[in-house]
Amino acid sequence: MGRSSKDKRDIYYRLAKEEGWRARSAFKLLQLDQEFNLFTGVRRAVDLCAAPGSWSQVLSRKLRASEDKKGETRNEEVKEERNEEVKKEEERKEEVKIVAVDLQAMAPLPGVTQIQGDITKVSTAQEIVRHFSGQPADLVVCDGAPDVTGLHDVDEYIQAQLLLAALNITTHVLKPGGTFVAKIFRGKDVTLLYSQLRVFFSQVTCAKPRSSRNSSIEAFVVCLNYSPPEGYVPNMSNPLLDHSYDVDFNQLEGPNRIIVPFLACGDLSAYDSDQTYPLQLDASQEYRYTPPTQPPIKPPYQQACLLRRNNLLAKEDSLPLAQEDSLPLAHE
Ligand code: SAM
Repeated sequence: MGRSSKDKRDIYYRLAKEEGWRARSAFKLLQLDQEFNLFTGVRRAVDLCAAPGSWSQVLSRKLRASEDKKGETRNEEVKEERNEEVKKEEERKEEVKIVAVDLQAMAPLPGVTQIQGDITKVSTAQEIVRHFSGQPADLVVCDGAPDVTGLHDVDEYIQAQLLLAALNITTHVLKPGGTFVAKIFRGKDVTLLYSQLRVFFSQVTCAKPRSSRNSSIEAFVVCLNYSPPEGYVPNMSNPLLDHSYDVDFNQLEGPNRIIVPFLACGDLSAYDSDQTYPLQLDASQEYRYTPPTQPPIKPPYQQACLLRRNNLLAKEDSLPLAQEDSLPLAHE
């Protein structure tokens, strides 16, 4: 198999390299933003489970970007106006704070502070708040995924736990009215998760970006307007899930059953992630292989890759789709 074959099979993998993203997941956040306008007015953002960092790249580029307004002009008044705008833009850029958290280390990114830590720990929440000098975040995103085992029930349960851990830490750091976006697996207990999210957010939507394969149960919850119940004290003990998981929430009826809207998002003319495309995408441009943008730092699977490359692994299992989807590009 040539090194270009993955470029053919996975258009978003290829585009990510060509546009300089560290992982194809970047497109998922970009497409969610197209639908929900997530970044407007955001000054403080948290990226939970951030490594290798493509969502942090999106945050950095979107929140800190300023168009170069220093264009040539002879008109002194316009020139001064533009310089003033540029100054304001620079000040705004200074104001923007992005914190990325992951168990793994990741290569540095402009304007992103990294915390190598566990999102289930209260100390991580405290560190985030310290980076924001005590101010709450406007936006929390989480693309967290456990190592997928291939046993669907187990994977869904662990993913649900991670999502609830992300919700817990979010209740420590998010401002009232703020936005929370997180990966979710649409398994059989997903309505329980929706109900729990609706306790904290007035609007919850389940969204599927074009770059997320139809064949994967992955989707994203976009939770708007953080409004915790009165008197709620943030804690890390997953009280909602742990004490009531035995209850069959899918049986709830009437006003107790929460059905959240489902939305396919991203420009409908965008590439289809389940389709194979020819290497030459348009007649005017010849295909050229692009190497991955940023190799991960010491990934936990390094040893396994080495063994596989040297044919020392006893058995070569193919990865379940949901996990293959979010592997960092440099892994390939
Ligand atoms: N959004 C990332 C990007 O665009 O590059 C990809 C994230 S990757 C799918 C999932 C990440 O979740 C892994 O890097 C893993 O280390 C992290 N993770 C899993 N459990 C975690 C935990 N308890 N605390 C912090 N990070 C965690």
